[in-house]
Amino acid sequence: MQDGTGLLVDGTWARGSGRLPVADKYTGEVLAELHVPGPDQVDAAVASAARAADGLPPARRAAILRLAARLLDERRAAILAQYVAETGFTPADAVTEFDRTLLILELCAQEAERLTGEMVPVQAAAGHDDSLCFTLRVPVGVVAAITPFNAPLSTVAHKVAPALAAGNAVVLKPAEQTPLCAIALVRALLEVGLPERLVQLLPGPGETVGDQLVRHPDVRYITFTGSTAVGRHIRAVSGLARTHLELGSNSPTLLWRDADLDHALPLVVRAGYRKAGQVCTSVQRLLAHATIADEVTDRLAALVGDLAYGDPRAPGIQVGPLISSEAAGRAEALTADAVGRGGRLVTGGGREGPMMAPALLSGLPDSARLASEEAFAPLLAIASVGSLDEAVRLANATRYGLQAGVFCQDLDIALTFARRLEMGGVIINDTSSTHPDPMPYGGVKDSGQGVEGPAFAVRDMTESRTVLVRHRRAGL
Ligand code: NAP
Repeated sequence: MQDGTGLLVDGTWARGSGRLPVADKYTGEVLAELHVPGPDQVDAAVASAARAADGLPPARRAAILRLAARLLDERRAAILAQYVAETGFTPADAVTEFDRTLLILELCAQEAERLTGEMVPVQAAAGHDDSLCFTLRVPVGVVAAITPFNAPLSTVAHKVAPALAAGNAVVLKPAEQTPLCAIALVRALLEVGLPERLVQLLPGPGETVGDQLVRHPDVRYITFTGSTAVGRHIRAVSGLARTHLELGSNSPTLLWRDADLDHALPLVVRAGYRKAGQVCTSVQRLLAHATIADEVTDRLAALVGDLAYGDPRAPGIQVGPLISSEAAGRAEALTADAVGRGGRLVTGGGREGPMMAPALLSGLPDSARLASEEAFAPLLAIASVGSLDEAVRLANATRYGLQAGVFCQDLDIALTFARRLEMGGVIINDTSSTHPDPMPYGGVKDSGQGVEGPAFAVRDMTESRTVLVRHRRAGL
């Protein structure tokens, strides 16, 4: 059991009105009992944050983010162990996300240093020959950050670090299933000198703690990553607060007839099954050109069949458990639905509790729920496509639009896909799950609105203030 309440309000690690047990996702062992805030504490956290915002010069913000990254790195081994325990992801997945987190902190530090407004040429207006006009980027005030279970370090960093870099105070509500990494990040920020009220930490259920937070009138900006259903709810109840929503997906990756399969297939397997498929951009649908679909199915059957699954800490394991038995049961039902409608289960799919054998389906019928809904599981379905038009139609035949991958050596075809796929991002010659952190990243349609990425998020978490200076030239 780890010490501490995990509840940080107005600069104090506080006792709450309820308890939140956090379990190891493979063994079920209770790792910590965190304190859940009552309604008064949620209000107190927002009020304290509102008083603290805009108190830190940009150079200091940057220095704190860099020092926090260094301190986290010093604690790497302990945090990685905690990450594996609370998520059920493998140590390899943990390292990838940990290193991304350090980079995100550094990139946000750089953005704090270069955040600036712009000059506006008002001289075109009559009577303003000698006016100067420029804009300042000022913090929005209180940012509420609400994060999902599946990226408990990097998604938290993609929200907390830009909020601080922009000069805001942030109230963080991490997912109740995986809050321990968020606590480690907040502790590191405080220990390297972040003024304590600039970050408030509220572990607890989304339906109570999160809901109160997003309805709070003093929260000016909500940055949310999670399901489309919760994102839609937040949009409906959050009043005039600006919202940035990173939501669900059913990401396709296309293998055109000229795709280099030796290069593509190992990438597809990694992008379909890492974190047990619990990644918003996971390859859920693989649209393979009809001329190569059989070869792709046979080769993937071997690769997926070889994936070792089980205890994420055991040597060689590539796929751990899902976040819960319910999540695995839902994936099992989606598989059964696809098979019931004519799809073929090529390998895997067996389930015991939260553990699911990595599953591969072929012949995905258009009518299957898997073709349009999100699985969020180690489950990949192949559909064969005969033409560019058919590939575009199938890729777009879902209410989601986060990212797509396109393996294709013909530049004209690849760029035609980039123009016609209704996605926030199209990745050429890699999978839908490729996401270098500096790039603008976000979904369209029911996958959300707004873009993440340090340069974009920092700017978006500010407001523009216009300064118009009237003056007369001296000596006239
Ligand atoms: P979720 O159930 O929507 O939860 C996300 C967060 O919202 C959690 O912290 C949750 O709290 C909180 N929440 C729940 N109800 C709320 C309410 N009424 N008001 C305010 N907050 C509330 O999502 P998840 O199961 O953790 O994560 C999986 C989903 O996230 C998938 O759909 C996935 O595609 C999506 N995702 C999207 C991206 C992207 O970049 N687009 C990235 C990662 C994940 P509790 O869980 O603590 O109750």
